[in-house]
Amino acid sequence: MTDYPHMLAPLDLGFITLKNRVLMGSMHTGLEETRDWNRVAEFYAERARGGVALMVTGGIAPNREGGVLPGASGMMTEQDIADHSIVTDRVHAADGKIAMQILHAGRYAYSPECVAPSPVKSPISPFPPRELDEEGIEKQIADIAEAARKAKQAGYDGVEIMGSEGYFLNQFLVTHTNKRTDRWGGSYENRMRLPIEVVRRTREVTGDDFIIIYRLSMIDLVPNGSTFDEVVQLAQEIEKAGATIINTGIGWHEARIPTIATSVPRAAFAWVTKKLMGKVSIPVITSNRINTPDVAEDVLATGCADMVSMARPMLADAHFVAKAMSGEAAKIAPCIACNQACLDHTFGGKLTSCLVNPRACHETELTIAPAATPKSIAVVGAGPAGLSVALTAAERGHTVTLFDKADMIGGQLNIAKMVPGKEEFFGLVDWYSAMVEDLNITTRLGHAVDAEDLDGFDEVVIATGVVPRDPGIPGQDADNVLSYIDVLRDAAPVGDKVAVVGAGGIGFDVSEFLVHKGESPTKNLPLWMEEWGVTDPETHRSGLAPEGPQPHAPARAVTLLQRKAEKHGKRLGKTTGWIHRAALKMKDVEFVGGVNYERIDSDGLHVSFGDAREDPTLIEADTIVLCAGQLPERTLADALIARGVTPHVIGGADVAAELDAKRAIDQGTRLAAAL
Ligand code: FAD
Ligand code: NAP
Ligand code: SF4
Repeated sequence: MTDYPHMLAPLDLGFITLKNRVLMGSMHTGLEETRDWNRVAEFYAERARGGVALMVTGGIAPNREGGVLPGASGMMTEQDIADHSIVTDRVHAADGKIAMQILHAGRYAYSPECVAPSPVKSPISPFPPRELDEEGIEKQIADIAEAARKAKQAGYDGVEIMGSEGYFLNQFLVTHTNKRTDRWGGSYENRMRLPIEVVRRTREVTGDDFIIIYRLSMIDLVPNGSTFDEVVQLAQEIEKAGATIINTGIGWHEARIPTIATSVPRAAFAWVTKKLMGKVSIPVITSNRINTPDVAEDVLATGCADMVSMARPMLADAHFVAKAMSGEAAKIAPCIACNQACLDHTFGGKLTSCLVNPRACHETELTIAPAATPKSIAVVGAGPAGLSVALTAAERGHTVTLFDKADMIGGQLNIAKMVPGKEEFFGLVDWYSAMVEDLNITTRLGHAVDAEDLDGFDEVVIATGVVPRDPGIPGQDADNVLSYIDVLRDAAPVGDKVAVVGAGGIGFDVSEFLVHKGESPTKNLPLWMEEWGVTDPETHRSGLAPEGPQPHAPARAVTLLQRKAEKHGKRLGKTTGWIHRAALKMKDVEFVGGVNYERIDSDGLHVSFGDAREDPTLIEADTIVLCAGQLPERTLADALIARGVTPHVIGGADVAAELDAKRAIDQGTRLAAAL
């Protein structure tokens, strides 16, 4: 008997049966754009082997004007059919099923050629779109249907028509972007004509035995979006037009409400999909922040949907479903929803990967093979760098001993997990614990290692992390000054007025910790919705609460300082920095930049501004928290080198500047793959 009867139940679609209820949602990985189709094929085949019922590719353009970027991957030529066949063949050989997502970006296309229902520029693109005429609209429909026909020819089991997230089809639905007065605009019947026609024509050219998923925006989260009545009406018409499955889209890309970041509660929008259940007779998929089999099972068991879509969790662990099936759920590497190696990479023009699993999208390049000569390996430091090297080395057959001076594994992840909105780090540390046990790694915890302790090992890896940087502010040794470690790890008492020195990732996290009291909104969906102004789309169009975000009063008055004059949080994650900034602004955190730290006394922190050290100002504070960056902890590495031992030095112990868990894990995994 499985723990996940709903998640693992097959789904009969009439002409085809899906082996379970898990869809791998579409992700733009950048792999298709490499044109290395063997690599693309291996990425999907690995996930097919991992047991997922159906996968959806990244968005594939039906024509040039619809591509998200100039040069975006498309399904337009005979060569495209041949290239994609390599992928579908490999997936089918692995007993998988795959649908191609057809993505027409409309006004979101980052190109001067972009087209839309009306010439209304998007707030997230510099290019005003060209308004389509009747002939232009017909061309878009024909191109989408033709892309689907070619997808079928390329061996795909189906297509997903991207109708949500504010892309082209979505742009026709709402008056905000559709100002037309012809048969494609005006009334809702007219505005939904395009999506319906697209589905109808796609069914016409692909026949009955082909999956058509329509991704439908169920809560737009932008002003003047759809009402829920309109959502239901559209879903019913989409069903009539021939769709096989309806998938859920949450929020337009331009929405100022987080929808998938780590601070969003798990399964935060499953209730929205549930509202559609029973209103259509085809299966409905829910999505967003579903990242464990337990969450998926709960969502399905409580009738929120017929299937769940998980995208990023399939990057973190390609074998998510297989492990859940074999009773090994504790061994599933969890997606922590950080976006650091997936969406941030995509938006930075880099190939997608995963913080937790650096092999994601690097399957053909980063291979983990059994070691030719098993060795005994000492790893000092059980932070993410040390844990990654330990896990991968043990997986390859080496004998690993893992040391840490702390009495638990995890390193700084144990500090990060204390921050409200970063609770997913608990799951990551739990996973590391499960894997350390599973791989029979010997642990020696609660003991600071000296060079002498490491005699007799074939290889020594030093992953001792970092020490906080000393900012050298006169007066910083007083009792009213704490470090981020005192505050987050050791729960030192903090006053009502706080000055935080340093506005890097840790300064932001400490500020977030200090302004919160009570339960984290990430663990309390109604509270989170209230704080961000999300409500039922049935009562308010688009799901936006009329009163807007209603943050609870901050627990403390916090001033967050940096010496740089640039915008606070400029170097935070590309897709999440705005959330951190908005969250602190909601709690009235004051951002002060361009400062010189003059001194600390019992009144607070004295600063001045500019090279001339002008405008002396007192930042009144009961407590000053130092978050001034970090330096490598290399004492042990240096001692070993002095004894003539050459250790491998990784993670923060190697380079502390701009270090994050992504780099630490990647470096550890790659080192272990080569040992
Ligand atoms: P560490 O995690 O520092 O681990 C080093 C380990 O070595 C420690 O456990 C230490 O006890 C041990 N050690 C040191 N000396 C010895 C010795 N002599 N003997 C035995 N053991 C020893 N990164 C992200 O990517 N995303 C985030 O969202 C994020 N948020 C963060 C939030 C906070 C509040 C903090 C503090 C950090 C955050 N980070 C985040 C950064 C991330 O945690 C670090 O980059 C990462 O942990 C560094 O990994 P590491 O293995 O090199 O070092
Ligand atoms: P950081 O990002 O380098 O920020 C350090 C801050 O301290 C900066 O704001 C810097 O700004 C200030 N500073 C530097 N030298 C100083 C000095 N001598 N005196 C006073 N202030 C000084 O480092 P961090 O915040 O300690 O974070 C450590 C690492 O963890 C980072 O690499 C970060 O990427 C990672 N992390 C990531 C996340 C995430 O969400 N992805 C969250 C937390 C941490 P000024 O020089 O302008 O003053
Ligand atoms: Fe999940 Fe972060 Fe990996 Fe992206 S990088 S898949 S958000 S763990």
